[in-house]
Amino acid sequence: MADPQTPTSLDGVTALYRRFRPGRFAELRGQDHVVRALQGATRNNRVVHAYLFSGPRGTGKTTTARILAKALNCEHPVDGDACNVCASCVAITKGSSLDVVELDAASNNGVDDVREITAGAWHGTPGRWKVYIVDEVHQLSKSASAALLKTLEEPPSHVIFVLATTDPHKVLPTIRSRTQHLEFRLIAGDTLSTLLHDVQGAAGLDVDDGTIEAAVRLGRGSARDALSALDQLIATGSLVDAQPRFDELLGALERGDTAAAIRSLALLLREGWDPEQLAESFVSDVRQIFLLQVAPDVADAVDVDRQRLVEWGTQLGLARTVRILETVGRAMREMKSAPDKVVVLEVALVRLARPDLDHTIEALDERLTRLERGATRAPAPAPAPAAALPPIGAVATPPKREPVAAPVPDTPAAPEPTAPEDRAPVSGSDDELRDRFIAKVVPRTSRAAQLLLRSAHVRSFDGSRLVLVVPTEELRENTERIKQGLRGALEHEFHAPVDVVWEVDPSLPATPAPRPTPSRPRTPAPPDEDVVVNDDDPVVVVDSVADHLITEMFPGAEEIS
Ligand SMILES: [Zn+2]
Repeated sequence: MADPQTPTSLDGVTALYRRFRPGRFAELRGQDHVVRALQGATRNNRVVHAYLFSGPRGTGKTTTARILAKALNCEHPVDGDACNVCASCVAITKGSSLDVVELDAASNNGVDDVREITAGAWHGTPGRWKVYIVDEVHQLSKSASAALLKTLEEPPSHVIFVLATTDPHKVLPTIRSRTQHLEFRLIAGDTLSTLLHDVQGAAGLDVDDGTIEAAVRLGRGSARDALSALDQLIATGSLVDAQPRFDELLGALERGDTAAAIRSLALLLREGWDPEQLAESFVSDVRQIFLLQVAPDVADAVDVDRQRLVEWGTQLGLARTVRILETVGRAMREMKSAPDKVVVLEVALVRLARPDLDHTIEALDERLTRLERGATRAPAPAPAPAAALPPIGAVATPPKREPVAAPVPDTPAAPEPTAPEDRAPVSGSDDELRDRFIAKVVPRTSRAAQLLLRSAHVRSFDGSRLVLVVPTEELRENTERIKQGLRGALEHEFHAPVDVVWEVDPSLPATPAPRPTPSRPRTPAPPDEDVVVNDDDPVVVVDSVADHLITEMFPGAEEIS
């Protein structure tokens, strides 16, 4: 049961979520079980020395920790709750109280950070509780966790630790076992709706119910996000700006129009949407489209949206709706670790618009396997001459002009069409090794690694040392993330450790230069040149691998910039 929300006095602060941050247990919404446990503990003097607050972001974990500190130190507590007006409560609200120490482990996760705050734990003000709030505690380093554990094992009597985390499973079990675990939940839509209506009344906001409903939807179970969304809706005065619109994108996917799909994504990105946020909103919309097809009563799309999404369901059909959910869902997982999140999303959209592309890649895979089998029975397949080798990126594209994957149904040593005579390399030569790397190692790496490798060129490879070149320092830094996977794939193929050296050569094109069309055969490059950039090829400057992919598949595709 929540009291009407009263604005917290914070001069000059205008953001709704800060002005209406709950200041007492009675003002917390949607976490009744947590309030019951904590208020009961302060009322009966039974607080424990360490709490673990877990739950999704924006559900009130650190706010609740501050309220606990207030309730414990309040000059006029009422039934275990804080008054929120006494000097102690106000100081905690303003962040100036010495009784509350906060550490954000997402940015300060070292052992020194923990030691610095716990060192003060032993000096407390008599008669007062000192509350340490460690946010994102799962991000503490191993040694920092150990230092924290040490304090938790013998906590000073006036000290309480509140460890907050979105991921309790990543918290050391030894730490977890010393805490009382309270789980925060996403806040139900009607609870958020009540909260927003209360805030509307208290702040005298002139907004209609549709706007509040939209803010509730955008809040996705988080009071903070719902209030931020309401702020944004009020500031911009329109729903269009507060929520990405996917009609164009859905239309493009429905028509199988890859260029239009990529273009609408680019437009959304230019509106300032973050790629992960976009993917999440898109999946959320498509999920509603899906639910409206299979279980309309479960769907919570509202009013105008509902009608629109029902129509999209009819146009897309169930099978395609499910495919979009799966493909973008997978992309969201990959984006978490991808060096370039936009590329992952772009590739997902291309796959959705061009389902045949997946088959092409499967076919390529099959050919490589066949080539590999053939290689064990007969002399090694002929690679293209070193000079004519395309950049590594060519591997992940359709097989049309790919020398390694050239059609070889029967004879493993099928000639590379553009280089019929210059072959039969010595086994183990630089060239052969390079080909094995491109044909067998690269496909074994993760998609993210393959995307990155598309921008790389092999400078030399002698079997124990592989020198790869990328055009920018930024790309080189990103190679750190694929290092391990690449090493494993190399070892798998060559049965020996291979040193990988990355170099930066700004004279390389940002991504592989487009390959010539079949009607214009490649001009042979000088034999000692690794990087193929023919002077007469139109060099298209592209920003990302996916751009390159698109340009390649759709030579006429319009670039938007
Ligand atoms: Zn008070």
